[in-house]
Amino acid sequence: MLNLFNIKVKYGLTDNAFNDILQCIKSLLSLYKLKHKLKSLVGIEPLTIDTCEDSCIAFTEKYATLMQCPICKKNRYISKKPVNSTYFFSIKERLIIQYKDEK
Ligand SMILES: [Zn+2]
Repeated sequence: MLNLFNIKVKYGLTDNAFNDILQCIKSLLSLYKLKHKLKSLVGIEPLTIDTCEDSCIAFTEKYATLMQCPICKKNRYISKKPVNSTYFFSIKERLIIQYKDEK
């Protein structure tokens, strides 16, 4: 499951896409449980960033305060919750994770 989560982060899969994959493989783990398992292993929790539903942009830097995507015009939030978000590790955190693995 952690390898699958790595693929999600590496290719920027949306939460919706990842959850669909979990359903397809009939996983008993949810994205929430997977995040907490990962944190227990490496002591690092990924940074959650809101993204456009269609993955046009991440709502960071100059887009941080926008309420809708400047490209496709889809809303950032529905019922005060982000429509989509993705997870990132900083370079520092990636190095910490890499050097915890002796192999
Ligand atoms: Zn968009």
